[in-house]
Amino acid sequence: MTATPDGLPRCGTGDPIMTMRTRRYFTCINGHSGVETTSENDQPYSQHWESVRIEGLIDAGKDPRGYAHYVCVECQAPMLEKA
Ligand SMILES: [Zn+2]
Repeated sequence: MTATPDGLPRCGTGDPIMTMRTRRYFTCINGHSGVETTSENDQPYSQHWESVRIEGLIDAGKDPRGYAHYVCVECQAPMLEKA
């Protein structure tokens, strides 16, 4: 995940690609917890990319609004996002 497809020069000490990382925390009715980590670049001149990593969750498709829907790895209960 360190590729710089457009070959833009690094500036100073920063990463060659600006990465935005968003974490969402989930919990099920039995108290198990999970995390969804979404990484995406925020670089206007390079190709958009996005990667999602999940821990403690099983991807169960999309909910009616088009958002990712997860169930618990341990008990398969629906996961609810923590406020
Ligand atoms: Zn659970």
